[in-house]
Amino acid sequence: MDNHYDIGIVGAGPAGLSAAFTVRWRNRSVFLADGRPEMGSLQRAPHVSNYLGLPPMPGTKLRERFLAQVWDAGVTIHRLTVKGVYPENGSFALQAGDDLVYVGAVVLATGAPPRDLLPGEERLLGAGVSYCASCDGPLFKGKRVAAVLAGEDPHEVLYLAELAERVYLFTPPDNIHPPFPSNIEPIPESLQAVTGSEHVEGVQLASGKTLPVEGVFFFTGRLPMAQLVPGLDTAGDAVEVNLRMATAVPGVFAAGDITGHPYQVARSVGQGQVAALEALSYMGR
Ligand SMILES: Cc1cc2nc3c(=O)[nH]c(=O)nc-3n(C[C@H](O)[C@H](O)[C@H](O)COP(=O)(O)OP(=O)(O)OC[C@H]3O[C@@H](n4cnc5c(N)ncnc54)[C@H](O)[C@@H]3O)c2cc1C
Repeated sequence: MDNHYDIGIVGAGPAGLSAAFTVRWRNRSVFLADGRPEMGSLQRAPHVSNYLGLPPMPGTKLRERFLAQVWDAGVTIHRLTVKGVYPENGSFALQAGDDLVYVGAVVLATGAPPRDLLPGEERLLGAGVSYCASCDGPLFKGKRVAAVLAGEDPHEVLYLAELAERVYLFTPPDNIHPPFPSNIEPIPESLQAVTGSEHVEGVQLASGKTLPVEGVFFFTGRLPMAQLVPGLDTAGDAVEVNLRMATAVPGVFAAGDITGHPYQVARSVGQGQVAALEALSYMGR
């Protein structure tokens, strides 16, 4: 994988696809990442009847049309979750899966917040709570950790198991495919809270029981915004942007449901286009 691009786009829903198409239309290079493209809102829309110029159709069909056009323009969707966006000498490094990718400007198009954070999750961020085994795993060598896996790719959990003494695994039962290392222990209960005062001390289960751990890793495809890009302004769940889709972090733009209501395909597509054009002009191109 090449690791230098003009624009980096996080999320391949309507906003991210529109932004990526626009960058390619301007003949610039784009890195488009989506860890779980099947999880975007559009696939869940049974029918979209209000997209101008197209007949009513299921969200999955509309997405197929978007994808055909985007692929035709030469865009690749990298199936990677972006775990961090780091400013670096006027440009940015994206932690995408296990790789670092360098881009001149960033468009965030990660959709509406998918889930409420667990009690303790945000407070203990960086104090035992992590979203990236390849970044933070070595800090937990020989220790007990919990891992929450929403997708099917166990890659990060297996890496954790190489380092940690024990990995308590929280994942749907049909996601468990033995054989796996003996220090991975699937827990058939849901995780309710992360406990600890200064740093992670345990995880609380639905039964009320607490498992002592020093780290908790969430591999759920989506991260709290504060983790992904520190320094963004937010209003409730939405990332604040101006009319140019610029966030409070220079060079970082946002588009689509991430910027708040109304959650609509047409709005996401339009904002994606504006964000891409503004990201290109930020780079002086
Ligand atoms: C049931 C339902 C019905 C709907 N009906 C309609 C309708 O009739 N008309 C209408 O206009 N709108 C409708 N919508 C809303 C519409 O689907 C959304 O407004 C639109 O999909 C938002 O696009 P988006 O690109 O902002 O986000 P999304 O489509 O949610 O895409 C975001 C993408 O970002 C990815 N992502 C998140 N975090 C990361 C990360 N850290 N790294 C990499 N990738 C990441 C996700 O995997 C996801 O694929 C409906 C939505 C739902 C759920």
